Amino acid sequence: MTADVIVIGAGFAGLYAVRRAVSTGLSVLGIEAAPDVGGTWYWNRYPGARCDVESVDYSYSFDEALQQSWTWSERFAAQPEILAYLRHVADRFDLRRHYRFGVDVIGAEFDQEAGGWRVRTRDISQGGESSHAAQFFVCATGCLSAVNRPDIPGADDFAGDVYFTAAWPREDPDLRGKRVGLIGTGSSGIQAVPIIAGQAERLVVFQRSANYSIPMPNRPWSAEEQRRIREEYPERRRMSAYASAGTPHGTYHKKALEADPDERIEALWRRWREGGVLFAKTFPDQNSDPAANDVAREFAEERIREIVHDPVVAADLIPVDHPIGTKRICTDAGYYATFNRDNVRLVNLRREPIDAIVPEGVRTGAATYPCDVLVFATGFDALTGALTRIDPSGPRGARLRDIWADGPVTFLGLMVPGLPNLFTISGPGSPSVLANMVLHAEVQVDWVIELMLTARRLGVHEVEPRRDAADAWTEHVAKAAEQTLFPKASSSWYLGANIEGKKRIFMPYAGGFGTYRRHCEAVADQNYAGLVLTTR
Ligand code: NAP
Repeated sequence: MTADVIVIGAGFAGLYAVRRAVSTGLSVLGIEAAPDVGGTWYWNRYPGARCDVESVDYSYSFDEALQQSWTWSERFAAQPEILAYLRHVADRFDLRRHYRFGVDVIGAEFDQEAGGWRVRTRDISQGGESSHAAQFFVCATGCLSAVNRPDIPGADDFAGDVYFTAAWPREDPDLRGKRVGLIGTGSSGIQAVPIIAGQAERLVVFQRSANYSIPMPNRPWSAEEQRRIREEYPERRRMSAYASAGTPHGTYHKKALEADPDERIEALWRRWREGGVLFAKTFPDQNSDPAANDVAREFAEERIREIVHDPVVAADLIPVDHPIGTKRICTDAGYYATFNRDNVRLVNLRREPIDAIVPEGVRTGAATYPCDVLVFATGFDALTGALTRIDPSGPRGARLRDIWADGPVTFLGLMVPGLPNLFTISGPGSPSVLANMVLHAEVQVDWVIELMLTARRLGVHEVEPRRDAADAWTEHVAKAAEQTLFPKASSSWYLGANIEGKKRIFMPYAGGFGTYRRHCEAVADQNYAGLVLTTR
């Protein structure tokens, strides 16, 4: 065996998995496609990239000395600062030495005779292939890492430069004096648009589905706030540990329609001004009662109409296909106001779909828009894409793509029946993208490493969920979604709707981070009920 554990990924989850495994005495090989650590924060360096969860929450909690020694400069950290933080963590815990960087995973098979996984890789720059073996295989591959490159006719014929927000060049391209076309208006596009509009000569934004976006009132933390954050960190983490989204923030104390109209508006204004994703959770029933959702939705739509001068453009920017918050709510720095600029134009692709990309630009049913540069902010094959691209196969030949042909079947969103000793951090069936991803990764990694240590202690070689236990969890995940308005968002990547041919199933666990954590703890407390532990 090359190591006890192979970890794929050097983002928040992968780095912590390596750190935790090493600290318990397990040997680890980390594999990462990028030349350095960072995961999503390595690749997504497009202009305006910034986290929509407050910096002091979107950071590791596992080491009090780390927490106390790192100072976040702003309320919402920008990509370079988050990347600097992850580099600092890698240095501080000497994690890089466990990794091979610039290496792509091209396949993985469970070798029953050897009692573990054989992971095949290709060196991205040299091209050589290698094989590595380990008893346990941790896929910390990220929920939003498999880039969606839409198959638009003529894309290869475009004469100008093409960039993807999710794979932005390390050297920022110079867009001054350029006519830029940007396709995609999710969180990435919405963050990039105001900055690109300020650089480019002209910007045409091609919107297939409008999204709700809340202004991000970002600002530097004052020295006094930084001191107080350090002092209150243990309490802040205690409040987050079992909270529904893994942050210390709750909702308004009354349901939307129990508050009188003035009180409702005041609560909405407060959340609007606080900014970020919290607006999606102003009222406790906002994501389960359509009438409560309407209250928040109408408030947000009113703000769009106030900001955007042209009523036709404002109407196009208002979503028509989902209750607010049922697609990931976006956060922005002046997105709507950008459409008041003379050099910016919105093209509603629902009225005039793209026919083709042509050498000189983008041709829709109504016109050809000349572009020197095309920016694709077209998202990801989310939650499952990075895993199904590896398509691991188990001891009885079962392949992940077949096991998940009718949608992801998992145990706790962490394990897959038919694939022993394999763990999917932030996988479908876990709260993942609905929670604070950093604390979520810590909870899952701790659970996984504890299971590995227990297996070692008991002389167990294989750990695998029973099919009925995985079916029961998958059913529970579906029921949790049914109690919310999430499934009503017909164009959501939560449902896989952005990828042609992908089974439409609400993939994250909507029961809440705290509830999920209790489920994980209960399974461990009951001697891993639901798992088959096999000794050779
Ligand atoms: P996204 O939300 O999936 O948005 C992709 C956009 O591209 C959508 O508007 C989509 O339209 C459009 N699109 C895709 N294929 C297209 C095609 N063939 N033709 C025209 N339009 C097309 O992806 P994202 O913006 O990268 O964000 C993904 C997630 O990453 C976010 O929801 C969030 O969780 C995370 N993120 C967070 C932050 C932050 O913390 N602030 C920033 C960026 C990303 P449809 O909706 O019609 O499919």
